[in-house]
Amino acid sequence: PRRGEPLLRVDGIRKEFGGLVAVKNVSFEVAAGEIVGLIGPNGAGKSTTFNLISGELPRTDGNVYLGAEKISGLRPSRIARRGLSRTFQHVKLIPGMTVIENVMLGAYLRTNEGFFSAGFRLNRTMEKRVAAEAARQLKRVGLEESMHVPAGSLPLGKQRIVEIARALCSDPILLLLDEPAAGLRYKEKQELARLLEQLRSEGMTVLIVEHDMEFLMNLVDRIVVMEFGKKLAEGLPHEIRSNPEVLEAYLGG
Ligand code: ADP
Ligand code: MG
Repeated sequence: PRRGEPLLRVDGIRKEFGGLVAVKNVSFEVAAGEIVGLIGPNGAGKSTTFNLISGELPRTDGNVYLGAEKISGLRPSRIARRGLSRTFQHVKLIPGMTVIENVMLGAYLRTNEGFFSAGFRLNRTMEKRVAAEAARQLKRVGLEESMHVPAGSLPLGKQRIVEIARALCSDPILLLLDEPAAGLRYKEKQELARLLEQLRSEGMTVLIVEHDMEFLMNLVDRIVVMEFGKKLAEGLPHEIRSNPEVLEAYLGG
């Protein structure tokens, strides 16, 4: 899709965990070239929504489309190959491995499901190709200087950017970022915001879960709000900030 046309369409998705309904009939769209914020109190269903979009969890009902193509029902690796990439809220880097090794690991996981079962035995050609791609993405995010240091030696803000470089391998068209700014200092959040603006100017589309309204306010094009598994509101940042229902959800929660 061209800039401004719908790229991601979430259509009435629902997820039940036993008796608990974690996501209830949620619909929204993300247009190509947009950064959209997904917010809501803890337990609202944001991460579950990400897992339904990226195929990590089977949906109970509803559909997800990437461009004209229905992706719900496909395996995560297939959805990734169609151009969707993501970071996870709790899966982080391996601290003892170097930055580039961490990024390479992500590239393998995206491109080759048999990587682990193959016992890490890779042919040299493939290893070189993946290393080149990892280096290219680290350069893109401004971390080429840190390629060969242990990931765990970097400050948290830079580690989050390494996670994004890992997700950028193979040039996805849509990035889902689950709380990339959590725990970061003010300056680190600003650096992250600048990177996301750079990616948007390069044509990337981003859906981001984040709690810090000030961080989102200056960055995102639109915000979708969830509460108790449902979509509570959707709109421009200033509309969301002054929406009484949204304020109630945050202050009353
Ligand atoms: P958020 O990311 O908005 O904080 P989640 O999507 O993680 O919320 O969780 C939404 C609800 O679904 C919560 O009540 C959570 O406990 C529940 N939940 C999430 N994942 C699972 C799971 N794998 N099994 C059972 N319940 C889950
Ligand atoms: Mg979450």
